[in-house]
Amino acid sequence: MRKIDLNNFRVARSETARDINRRIVLNLIRKHQPISRAGLARRCGLQRSTVSAITEQLIAERWVIKGAAGHLPRGRKPTFLHLNDERAGIVGVDIQPVTTTLAVAGIDSHFLAHESMSTGRDPAEFVARLSRRILDLIRAHPKSSYEGIGVSLPGRIDTSSQKLTFAPNLEWGELDIKTPLERATGLPVELENTANACALAELWSGRHTEGVSNLMTVTVSDDIGVGMIINGQLVQGSTGLAGEFGHVSLIQDGPQCRCGNRGCWEVLASNSAAARYYAQSASVRKGEVGSKSDMATVGFGDILRLVQQGDAKACKALDQMAHFLGVGIAMLITGLAPDVLVVVGEVTRAWDRVGPIVAEAVKQRSFTHAGTHILPTDPEAQPRLRGTIALVLQKHFGAPFIA
Ligand SMILES: [Zn+2]
Repeated sequence: MRKIDLNNFRVARSETARDINRRIVLNLIRKHQPISRAGLARRCGLQRSTVSAITEQLIAERWVIKGAAGHLPRGRKPTFLHLNDERAGIVGVDIQPVTTTLAVAGIDSHFLAHESMSTGRDPAEFVARLSRRILDLIRAHPKSSYEGIGVSLPGRIDTSSQKLTFAPNLEWGELDIKTPLERATGLPVELENTANACALAELWSGRHTEGVSNLMTVTVSDDIGVGMIINGQLVQGSTGLAGEFGHVSLIQDGPQCRCGNRGCWEVLASNSAAARYYAQSASVRKGEVGSKSDMATVGFGDILRLVQQGDAKACKALDQMAHFLGVGIAMLITGLAPDVLVVVGEVTRAWDRVGPIVAEAVKQRSFTHAGTHILPTDPEAQPRLRGTIALVLQKHFGAPFIA
């Protein structure tokens, strides 16, 4: 139960109930389409006439369209309703330190196109280039309207200023991306941390999260991000910085982290940690992958490939990373007891090897028996991009803020 905040409340008006019921009906159509009005009335418990009034409004607003008539042995043939995928497009932008991916999706979250561009070091130049690419993408996929742009970033967004405030891996400093993007495209922009956006994507379109209201995502790349949905609500903290478990120091005198601390979880369990473990143990024979001269060029992708070929040193490096991934996940499970913890990142490609090591570290350290299911996501399903689409979708499909 939530306490009523007397500094920030909304009283219920006559349209409040209508808005709640409208969103319930819209979500029922999204989930059970194609569905008849009678089917909707059965599922939500509202009068047929009320359901008809709501669906007429949704049809008038072009959120919903009538499909083919159904077949019943006798009586009136019901008309089936479904979401109007053609109503609007959504642009998704997933910014990562090296590469940024853009996509266009319909309101059914189905991708119509996606493409990549380099991120680059100069934020002003990047935002200008990104704006042009978005406009080109919209021109190439004309829709009657575009609902907005969802952007995920490997950093934290200040909830009041909407500025990027903490992004050690981008090295951009404090930055306003929202205003110039909105000005250039004329569309509303929703910004969110990558791990938070992935958590929202799981909530909205995850395969194993039906009925789940406590969910965490751990995004593993050259950094580690954590997104938390507790009691069905994204946790943002006082300034939007909640979830920086990647910078909790696990080894006091461990390796130096970009944030200034030592032995942070991300310096022990990220992709670059595995690359460092490999470089530290690899032989230094000249010209061989992994020799000191090649150290900087052995990326996490190379390590995964070497593991597939049975390379002992690559296996050892990946196992070490997996162990520390498990150590951090044990901390999350012990502290927050989520129903589901989803792991996002290239590391899930080797989950046959990594999963059991993570599970063992969790078993050894977490005594709460939280019953958390640890699930890897399929990288082919583009979990980061799906998150950016969810950022825009939740404005229309999410529960309204009341009281
Ligand atoms: Zn750190």
